[in-house]
Amino acid sequence: MSEQTHFSREQGTGNGESGVKSRRGGVTPPVTVNRQPSTIQYLIQQQRDFFATGQTQNIQFRLTQLYHLKQAIAVHETAIINAVKADLSRPDLEAYFELAPVAEINYAIKHLKSWVKPQKVRASFSQLPASTWIYPQPLGIVLIIAPWNYPFQLIISPLIGAIAAGNCAILKPSEIAVNTSKIISDIISKTFNSEYITVVEGGVETSQELLAEKFDHIFFTGGTKVGQIVMEAAAKHLTPVTLELGGKSPCIVDDNIQLDYTAKRIIWGKFINAGQTCIAPDYVLVNSRIKSELILGLQKWIQTFFGDHPETSPDYSRIINLFHFNRLEEFLKAGNIIIGGQRNAETKYIAPTLIDHISWDDSIMQEEIFGPILPILEYQDLGEAIAKINSRPKPLALYLFSRNQDKQNRILQETSSGTLCFNDTVLQFGGKSLPFGGVGESGIGSYHGKATFDRFCHYKSVLKQTFLLDLPLRYAPYKGKEWLIKRILMQ
Ligand code: NAD
Repeated sequence: MSEQTHFSREQGTGNGESGVKSRRGGVTPPVTVNRQPSTIQYLIQQQRDFFATGQTQNIQFRLTQLYHLKQAIAVHETAIINAVKADLSRPDLEAYFELAPVAEINYAIKHLKSWVKPQKVRASFSQLPASTWIYPQPLGIVLIIAPWNYPFQLIISPLIGAIAAGNCAILKPSEIAVNTSKIISDIISKTFNSEYITVVEGGVETSQELLAEKFDHIFFTGGTKVGQIVMEAAAKHLTPVTLELGGKSPCIVDDNIQLDYTAKRIIWGKFINAGQTCIAPDYVLVNSRIKSELILGLQKWIQTFFGDHPETSPDYSRIINLFHFNRLEEFLKAGNIIIGGQRNAETKYIAPTLIDHISWDDSIMQEEIFGPILPILEYQDLGEAIAKINSRPKPLALYLFSRNQDKQNRILQETSSGTLCFNDTVLQFGGKSLPFGGVGESGIGSYHGKATFDRFCHYKSVLKQTFLLDLPLRYAPYKGKEWLIKRILMQ
């Protein structure tokens, strides 16, 4: 694109939202944004005008934009990793995970030509002699709102689908991951014209300002409560939404397992990014017969991964901000701490922590933990565990560790969750063939691989009739042909 419009730089000369008290009770990190109320409307109108030119419909245009995005990520790789590390004090490798969308870009580039092909379908008898097909069409202007925990990949992954499907997009990164928000804005403004794709940086107010406008789709990743706010705002314009939300993801552990692998995989999935992962096991629900052995295994793997002093481990992240640090600290008051519990508000460090003697009524069991604290509860029989899970909001992820096929089948059939993973954790998120998303309170709609393209398309049904003949059967007067029409209708 020849002309570059740098929305956040041109408009961002003041401190519209910097240093304000956030609704989380903490201080929202300074964001250089100062907009007139009409700026967002102007941006949207610019995008509508650009979309109306039809350029984004062109397949070569879409492929070129995907290449541009891939190249921009490559050029800014170090800056992206450094921004994520600055925001979340992540280990190098875990910061590198943020570049995962590159694989999604490659996949979209490889398959786009087949995805966009109209799909011919068989016309039913009553439609003959017409031909029928399904035509994937872009939606228009989409809004993508992202959270702070995987701040780069959770905004770029949906963007890939938006581009591939031929849309214009406005991106709203999380204001809490302030360094990543800036680098996203920088990359996007250098790579795309703002009338095609742009970033609007800012916090809750900015998000609400955007949500007041009409979009053709809103793709939101964040907490369940904010998801409700997003859906309510979208309803005013009947805007369709994808909601990638959170919640408590249970991890059931049966007594028929390979115990060492089980413990290792739970600790890995729980403590990457210091537990600030939407599909991290939120709590363990273990068969009482092996509870003590499992606890020993979990302790062993905490020590193996992070040493006796995780605070000095180069492989252990920190909590994003003081608000979340304080929220998590409250959880430490429940039950008995088996291992961990040490913390340092200055460095926002909370040790990998296992807690025992937790009741279902404790506050730690009422909301998503989203941090490095793992409560361990027990059950006597699987039916009891299933009943407990089914009495609560539908989880984003459900984990079962068991060799027993019948128990696996029971969990598969008797519970509902966005994703289900047997004998491992978190891995169901990766890959391109498994759509990822929630169900019920954990979300609406899924993405990854082709599913991301599907999210941002309308599959339009098309019927084309011929002028070569005109079968008289369906027209009045019906007398004498009702019986035939009725038979055809039932074909
Ligand atoms: P959040 O819901 O607080 O914020 C997400 C986005 O919404 C941010 O950009 C924020 O600015 C905006 N926002 C916040 N409050 C708003 C309001 N009142 N009105 C309008 N917009 C508002 O979430 P978070 O704290 O950034 O992220 C953590 C949550 O996200 C967890 O619940 C986690 O499980 C969930 N999550 C889900 C997935 C998934 O793929 N399903 C992935 C990552 C995180």
